[in-house]
Amino acid sequence: MSEIRHRALTGLHEKANSGFSGNKKLENKKISEIFGTNVFDMNTMKEYLTEGAYYAILAAKKHNQKIEIETADTIAKGMKKWAIDMGATHYTHWFQPLTGGTAEKHDAFYKPSSSKSDGIENLTAAELIQREPDASSFPSGGLRSTDAARGYTVWDPTSPAFILEVESGKTLYIPSVFISYTGESLGYKAPLLKSIEALSCAATSVYHYFDETVKSVIPTLGCEQEYFVIDAGLFEARPDLMLTGRTLFGRKSAKGQELDDHYFGVIPERVQNFMNDLEAESLKLGIPVLTRHNEVAPGQFEFAPMYEELNVANDHNMLVMDLMHKVARKHNLRILMHEKPFHGLNGSGKHNNWSMATDTGINLLSAGKQPGNNLPFITYFVNIIKAVKENADVLRASISGPGNDHRLGANEAPPAIISIFVGNEMARLLDEFEKIGLNPNAPEGNPTMELDIPKIPSAVLDNTDRNRTSPFPFIGNRFEFRAAGSTQNCSLPMMTLNTLVADQLVSFKKSVDEKVFSGSPKELAIIETLQGYITESKSILFNGDGYSKEWELEAEKRGLANVKTTPYALDAMITDQAKALFERNNVLSNKELVARYNVLQEIYVNKISTEACMVKELALTHIIPAAIDYQSQLISLYKGYKELNIENACNDIKTQIEEIYSHTHAIRNSISEMDKAGEQLHEKSSISEESKWLNDYVKPHFDTIRYHADSLEVLVDDSNWKLPKYRELLFIK
Ligand code: ADP
Ligand code: MG
Repeated sequence: MSEIRHRALTGLHEKANSGFSGNKKLENKKISEIFGTNVFDMNTMKEYLTEGAYYAILAAKKHNQKIEIETADTIAKGMKKWAIDMGATHYTHWFQPLTGGTAEKHDAFYKPSSSKSDGIENLTAAELIQREPDASSFPSGGLRSTDAARGYTVWDPTSPAFILEVESGKTLYIPSVFISYTGESLGYKAPLLKSIEALSCAATSVYHYFDETVKSVIPTLGCEQEYFVIDAGLFEARPDLMLTGRTLFGRKSAKGQELDDHYFGVIPERVQNFMNDLEAESLKLGIPVLTRHNEVAPGQFEFAPMYEELNVANDHNMLVMDLMHKVARKHNLRILMHEKPFHGLNGSGKHNNWSMATDTGINLLSAGKQPGNNLPFITYFVNIIKAVKENADVLRASISGPGNDHRLGANEAPPAIISIFVGNEMARLLDEFEKIGLNPNAPEGNPTMELDIPKIPSAVLDNTDRNRTSPFPFIGNRFEFRAAGSTQNCSLPMMTLNTLVADQLVSFKKSVDEKVFSGSPKELAIIETLQGYITESKSILFNGDGYSKEWELEAEKRGLANVKTTPYALDAMITDQAKALFERNNVLSNKELVARYNVLQEIYVNKISTEACMVKELALTHIIPAAIDYQSQLISLYKGYKELNIENACNDIKTQIEEIYSHTHAIRNSISEMDKAGEQLHEKSSISEESKWLNDYVKPHFDTIRYHADSLEVLVDDSNWKLPKYRELLFIK
């Protein structure tokens, strides 16, 4: 057996027997005692800030008011004092560049002075508000030329600062937006904040039809994060996992997810220890951890916090992704965040549970006791459906990426066709509303289900069922954008959704106001406008099985787009309609939008190019050598049989040798064709042409090469095989 695979497997055995007990951070402590202890939250601010500074932050959070420089100075001093009291020595602006991850650049609080011994710990307003990281190595999609590489990070006071600790020390993290010298956004956060503002304004002014006292509406988000966990040693024996995040080779294990015995099953102890540790870290950072469980595929799990206001929820999701990797390392585990790490098994998504709430605590998507007679609910519900119908392609673009291409439309993942599931109850409601408007006699409350088991109470049925096959289902009190990918920064899909719903609400308000202006009573104007929307949006509603072939055909008849790959799906981002949408709502200028498009195409090109190199390297240095080693054993055997004149045995062995050869030969052929296609890449004149070329002419070879390599996996003696196999990677205990 190859040395590295062998070592990984032996190590695994030792680790499993070492009784590693995980972290004891939560032991004997109530969650309430550690929750938010590392966060400069409103309670801590009360203690460390002057009253004026405290209310300035509150006003920024609630009413988007700008913080004056003098106040910022007071806040900086308070924040620094708290951080130093907590033992922090450094601080960093924490931002989200377009690479998709997070970035940071640490500075010490300590400022030396000219007289050698009297340096001081300091953080000024200027430092709190703005830093200048070297931005030249982050993708800008053409917004920055290398000779004008300045980029700034600017403090976002609406997301609380926090302290992260590693063994060697503590650092204060200040959530920030990332912009260029000319003011364009280079990261994900600024446009997200702008989209929240656009949605908030539009949704609030529509709410004034129903209640004038509501001051603001904010979007809420609960991110369910799916991921795989594997042993660190095995991970390191798979160069494809290390470099591309997914297995480029590997035959399906004899046991897969067929029996679903893993789903909600007992969490393996090693993983549970990791989860406990992760939860303790998350809770200290004020991340409201709620649920953990096994997911459908073996080795797959889910982390779901309680929902929060969108900007904070998104920061928390980014933070959780970082924490997962850090904490897993301590447990000799590795996290696979990729959308499809294992061929033939379920992929991982990030389900974005999204809704809107008023400052008075009303969830706008809560159907209430009598949905058929609840006009505010129906107003937002129908406007969202209409917004998604009109801009389905832009929403589809927002979840594209090389990883998600394997998922959308593949085994157990929502299809690339954007449609909305509303369930039978809500479909009936929409039909009824379209015909008669509000129904004061609409059925009340949730139906119950009598279980007919003594002592067990009857169960309350939700007024919507679930549909795992829908990319965008409505589930009772929120929409769940399920199609987003597990590696994604949700900012992009959330910013898109916010913007298109904001835009829709603005045009709804305009229509209603026009009707009222020409004499229609307000309620009638609202109802008639919504009725028109229902009629126009029907084709986006689909309650059936989104995984079925019939749906693809049906969707085509309905004229719904089904763009399966990233390079083409992204084109919807830069149509005239999309450009106008983002500009009109003051979320992204045309220049910023095109820059984003270029960055996403560039990321695709980089990732697929890396995969191509890795496919080639592994095939030539791992797969074929293993096959040849075994083949040479067979050849010696053949010679032995020949000497002994055992003709039948000779024929058997010869067939085996030839079979192995046919696969190694096919691999070499495909590699040389892939190389030829790759060489033409430099002839392309734009990044979008490059990505399309890779998608159409290079990537298809991966499947052919994989087919032959995976066939060899069951022809070659196990002891010759170098890469850890699926059964070894997936069934860690
Ligand atoms: P599922 O059954 O879909 O796996 P989970 O319990 O794992 O559900 O996750 C549901 C998520 O939806 C949680 O993060 C929860 O806080 C979130 N959620 C619930 N209500 C809202 C809401 N009004 N707005 C946004 N998210 C919500
Ligand atoms: Mg879930």
